[in-house]
Amino acid sequence: MYKLKNYMEDIVNKKIDSLLNIMNICQCEKCRLDIMAIALNDLPPKYVVTDTGALYTKVRELEQQFEVDVETAIVKAALFVNKNPKHDVVK
Ligand SMILES: [Zn+2]
Repeated sequence: MYKLKNYMEDIVNKKIDSLLNIMNICQCEKCRLDIMAIALNDLPPKYVVTDTGALYTKVRELEQQFEVDVETAIVKAALFVNKNPKHDVVK
């Protein structure tokens, strides 16, 4: 079974939580997804055709290659969403 996959999405998904923790940014579902969307629009997509087994190794490879870019994009997106939060204000 083959799948079309954007690795960049996995890498962002993997890195986002620790960065948001460090930055003390809202991590509700809406903000987290907003930040992911903005960061991913900023990063080059890395589409590949894969079967599920090969996924993990490849992600680690690309993760090292794009680490700085991904972190920069997430930080930028997080600061933007933090200033313009779209979640319900009631808390
Ligand atoms: Zn939020």
